[in-house]
Amino acid sequence: MKIFHILLDWIARNLSHIFCKEIFQHRLILFFKSGNNTMIAKQENPQPQLVHRYHRITPLPSVPQVVHMDLVNACNLACISCWNHSPLLAAPKSRNWKLAKMDTELAIRLIHELAKLGAEKLIFSGGGEIFLHPDIYTLILKATLYPKMKLTLMTNLLACSDPDFLIQRRVSSILVNFHATNRKSYAAFHPGTPEKKFDELLEKIDHLRKGGLAIKLVSAVNAINFEELPKMLELASHLDCNIQFKLASVAPGTEVTMLTKEQKKWLWKQIPSLRKQAKLLGVHKTNLEVLGQQLQGGKEHNFPIREIGCYAGYYYSRIQTDATVHYCCKSIPVGNCASSSFMEIWQGERYESIRRSLEKGKFFPVCDSCGKYDLNYTVYKTIQHFFSPTQDGHSPEKTSTAGPTL
Ligand code: SF4
Repeated sequence: MKIFHILLDWIARNLSHIFCKEIFQHRLILFFKSGNNTMIAKQENPQPQLVHRYHRITPLPSVPQVVHMDLVNACNLACISCWNHSPLLAAPKSRNWKLAKMDTELAIRLIHELAKLGAEKLIFSGGGEIFLHPDIYTLILKATLYPKMKLTLMTNLLACSDPDFLIQRRVSSILVNFHATNRKSYAAFHPGTPEKKFDELLEKIDHLRKGGLAIKLVSAVNAINFEELPKMLELASHLDCNIQFKLASVAPGTEVTMLTKEQKKWLWKQIPSLRKQAKLLGVHKTNLEVLGQQLQGGKEHNFPIREIGCYAGYYYSRIQTDATVHYCCKSIPVGNCASSSFMEIWQGERYESIRRSLEKGKFFPVCDSCGKYDLNYTVYKTIQHFFSPTQDGHSPEKTSTAGPTL
């Protein structure tokens, strides 16, 4: 049977281009339904293997669904648990690192290449605040020339001097850092920032929403704000935004912001009522289920990544300010775009060897605080659900054969 799998892998890799993608995927489904999934299920920790097999057999796209470009490292804020700018960091970033920004010509070349390859989503982000890049509006203009590639901005909004430009260019979505629910907690989370900046943030969000842009609030949950989640849901509803919660991971020096075991347990117990509240308030897109999974009744291990597997290498890639391409949002370099095209790196040996090694369960030490846990969990649940539809009574026919949409 092992030889059969090796043969199937080879066929998938080398001959899949001769099939229509839909037919190929239909065959793949038949393959799983024919009993191979049962065989896999007999093995220890079966689900990640099943999900990996799906990716191994499905043709690798010529570009990831989501590409994340870091435009700038400087920041106008200093969030208390930030890996790059927290005033508590044991080893603060160097001045040179903070001054780094992506070369505008390079950024424009990448935008064109990614759009032509068919990337579905481009994210402008950074080790700092994107609106501190001197050519940010030019880059937004260039990226929005390709309507098929959705542009997402990650920002704290305070340095955005022209919100109307974002409305005019119909930016697809904005992820706004949102870690507090009032002036006082805003100042506590962002030491050195005046309380009144909280009002400015709310005004800008309101303005952009009224301009018709989709906004998702992103909250890093830690010991400063963990009791504010009900209020955050209320504000999200009031502002007509979605909200996403992320358990803040801790950099050396910022341990004081980490949730204690008791706090985690307490918050984990609130998850069912928070989900109910979100539903009642009409805040439909939250990731409270994922947050609950991370909290796991107070377990110390925040990100049970080994239980679900890593699939980031099929959907996501990150390019840093110096053009280094990383496997994910952690420092796992796979190449540099200054000297080669993005596609060469994405389809190159180094990328493939990391995919293979993660498939075998060989994780990096940084994976214990996986920054793409949400993505991995979504992929895992979607594929698992597709091949085990009876668990919650849904029909497999209603699930896309094209894999998860992230
Ligand atoms: S941190 Fe590890 S598990 Fe998470 S996406 Fe990166 S490689 Fe995968």
